[in-house]
Amino acid sequence: MAKGRVRFHTERCKACELCVHFCPRKILGVDMDTINLLGYHPVKVNLPENCNGCGICALMCPDLVIEVERD
Ligand code: SF4
Ligand code: SF4
Repeated sequence: MAKGRVRFHTERCKACELCVHFCPRKILGVDMDTINLLGYHPVKVNLPENCNGCGICALMCPDLVIEVERD
């Protein structure tokens, strides 16, 4: 099974949660312990080991926050 990694430019995240909603593995969520410079709780990956590198999260993000690497 394909594996991947996601990286976030968290300073650009507006917490719209589109990526959270569309991730087929349901491994993304907003980080309630962090507030970025825009004043939002930015997204984070909760279960990185379950990422398949599909790239859907990056495709959905309107603010180019997410980079995906696929093995
Ligand atoms: S690359 Fe796919 S599986 Fe990984 S976090 Fe993004 S949407 Fe979810
Ligand atoms: S889609 Fe982009 S801006 Fe929206 S929560 Fe996800 S990373 Fe943040």
